[in-house]
Amino acid sequence: MSGENSRTSSNGAVQTINSVGMGRLHGKNAIVTGAAGGIGLETCILFAKEGANVLMADISAPALEKASAKLQQLVPSAHKVETQVCDVSKETDVQKMVEHLDSWGGIDIMFNNAGIMHADDADAVDTPEKIWDLTQAINVKGVWFGCKHAVLSFRKHNKSRGSVINTASVVALVGSATPQLAYTASKGAVLALTRELAIVHAREGFRFNALCPAPLNTPLLQDWLGDDKPKRLRREIHFPSGRFGEAIEQANAVLFLASDESSFINGQDFVVDGGMTKAYVTPE
Ligand code: NAD
Repeated sequence: MSGENSRTSSNGAVQTINSVGMGRLHGKNAIVTGAAGGIGLETCILFAKEGANVLMADISAPALEKASAKLQQLVPSAHKVETQVCDVSKETDVQKMVEHLDSWGGIDIMFNNAGIMHADDADAVDTPEKIWDLTQAINVKGVWFGCKHAVLSFRKHNKSRGSVINTASVVALVGSATPQLAYTASKGAVLALTRELAIVHAREGFRFNALCPAPLNTPLLQDWLGDDKPKRLRREIHFPSGRFGEAIEQANAVLFLASDESSFINGQDFVVDGGMTKAYVTPE
């Protein structure tokens, strides 16, 4: 059941009531895709801490198992946490994943977060067509399927509100001299489709926002940078704060967008980048 910690006034505004001991997502049912990785896993942990029932979905069964064990260990008081293997580029998988929540009372929060950046992604000349297609299939079609089945579930369960958050990237807003054309194009598409869905479904009470993370302090990136100081500096210099972001800093933003505290925030490119996209020169 949604909305146990909030009330809606006659004009549709949602007033959040922070009752003692009640989490910010108390009673809400959430799906997180790409749940076995950095941002997805941190978000599942936070959602569970804040009282949500969470379905953790990912393409990798072993990674999902490890991630769910970590969550159970960190949040022993978690309400309901289940896992589901799902390839977001396959509509039948996504439909099955969302319909899994029918017995929970339907979905309230959909975090379409799964995404790839392929090692063979390059510039206009060198990007292989199959890498382009694979990237669009997961990063764009996967988000579309997630949005589609979230809307169908909201309607099926007569939800008067629902929150969908789609992970884009700062590369949808600024260009990069290290090309990853298929990825950049896919994240631009996520911003565009999110904005349009926000407007189309606004009168139904369904909100759609896009998260734009800057490069993060994840093992993937850090291992790749290794001890190469110039390579590291070339990236760090763009951050006014002088550091990469952390996955938990993205998860905190997702929690806000998922909760009723953000009830009047809709159709936004929600940028969590330490000011990176606002910088001309950065502090010395
Ligand atoms: P991650 O690689 O740690 O996690 C991504 C997860 O998605 C993995 O667990 C992977 O198994 C899963 N996945 C891959 N293909 C899938 C599919 N077809 N179906 C279901 N799950 C699939 O990555 P992350 O850094 O946490 O990234 C999460 C999102 O954030 C992605 O959309 C990514 O593009 C975006 N992003 C990341 C950064 C960064 O620096 N890490 C920056 C900007 C945007």
